[in-house]
Amino acid sequence: MVRAVVGANWGDEGKGKITDMLAKEADIIVRFQGGANAGHTIVNDYGKFALHTLPSGVFYNHTTSIIGNGVALNIPVLCEEIQSIVERDVPKPKILVSDRAQIVMSYHVLFDTYEEERLAGKSFGSTKSGIAPFYSDKYAKIGFQVSELFDEELLQEKAVRICEQKNVLLEHLYHKPLLKPEELLKELHEYREMIAPYVCDVSAYLYEAMKEGKEILLEGQLGSLKDPDHGIYPMVTSSSTLAAYGAIGAGIPPYEIQKIITVCKAYSSAVGAGAFVSEIFGEEADELRKRGGDGGEFGATTGRPRRMGWFDCVASRYGCRIQGTTDVAFTVLDVLGYLEEIPVCVGYEIDGEVTTEFPTTAKLQKAKPVLEILPGWNCDIRGIRKYEELPENCRKYIEYIEGKLGFPITLISNGPGRDDIIYRA
Ligand code: GDP
Repeated sequence: MVRAVVGANWGDEGKGKITDMLAKEADIIVRFQGGANAGHTIVNDYGKFALHTLPSGVFYNHTTSIIGNGVALNIPVLCEEIQSIVERDVPKPKILVSDRAQIVMSYHVLFDTYEEERLAGKSFGSTKSGIAPFYSDKYAKIGFQVSELFDEELLQEKAVRICEQKNVLLEHLYHKPLLKPEELLKELHEYREMIAPYVCDVSAYLYEAMKEGKEILLEGQLGSLKDPDHGIYPMVTSSSTLAAYGAIGAGIPPYEIQKIITVCKAYSSAVGAGAFVSEIFGEEADELRKRGGDGGEFGATTGRPRRMGWFDCVASRYGCRIQGTTDVAFTVLDVLGYLEEIPVCVGYEIDGEVTTEFPTTAKLQKAKPVLEILPGWNCDIRGIRKYEELPENCRKYIEYIEGKLGFPITLISNGPGRDDIIYRA
């Protein structure tokens, strides 16, 4: 069976932890989109890890980790990440990289930085990992596919062509040093050497695996609201964050994805700019940020403090719907244990009218939260393994939100560890 683990919100929902946990029973874990711009934090027997490129299943001996064709592949980051986990005594994972994945080049990172500089205050809050320039090149059909690294003639010709094109922008728009074809070729040759041991025809591999009845997990990055089509455009990421894209970014038929586990956080957090209706500020936000996640809500890649807010039923219901959710994994619930009362955003007021439908960006910017206050449970729920053993107000919070979402909450995460999970039928 193929299952997808994806986010309902703005990212950082705890997908890494849920994937790591589900990977125990999986044979193959596939990253199908995104790049090294976001990170997953995983806590397990080997310690605490921030992964940016490797799928969250790399800590098990029995799994194969795959970088699908939909990923923005940063080869040095991948190799460093493999190195860094092996150094900490994790057995060397089995890793396969799609021959159709495209490569993040060092000039993509430069262009990302230059563009942020040029836009100054009007920037999109890029992590400067080269992701947006990478995907632009992919769709402009001037990217480098892994398979092309093994065609020397093509590389020679393409290196010259790419430099000509990029140098126009470097010279006239950004006023920065120009690219040299020989340096670009050298970079490509290095990448060829580094990636060669992992290259695979991934869609063929997965086709055979599915015939053999293997358990496959597709691991998404970020969440529904960062999807370029269905999210808060233009404050979105550059590749689709939806389970549907898992079929394309891994190279499998869409009907093979039978379970879509949408990870939804018990409160809200977001990074970067963009409308965030249930956002809170000041001390209230600092307190939640400090207690949030595992050691505070700060970016796994950037260390940036995350923006904080109450649970947003409007955004999360939409986020779950657009993913095609079969199961909701409700995470970081333990964090809310300090509150006497918990506000929840149940509607948006736009131009004097209240709606529960998530609007397009222009309207979203005008939305004000309609809050409802639920009683807190005011105790630590970590360590509880049975739903019935949760405090009554905690169960009421879950059931209230489940009702608003319209999708079943079957997994509840009450701590960062692999075993901090409550299954609910
Ligand atoms: P991802 O990008 O969706 O994988 O999310 P991140 O890894 O950026 O953020 C999740 C953070 O919350 C990590 O630090 C996790 O260790 C932590 N985490 C995940 N689930 C839980 C939970 O149920 N409770 C607590 N307290 N922390 C959690």
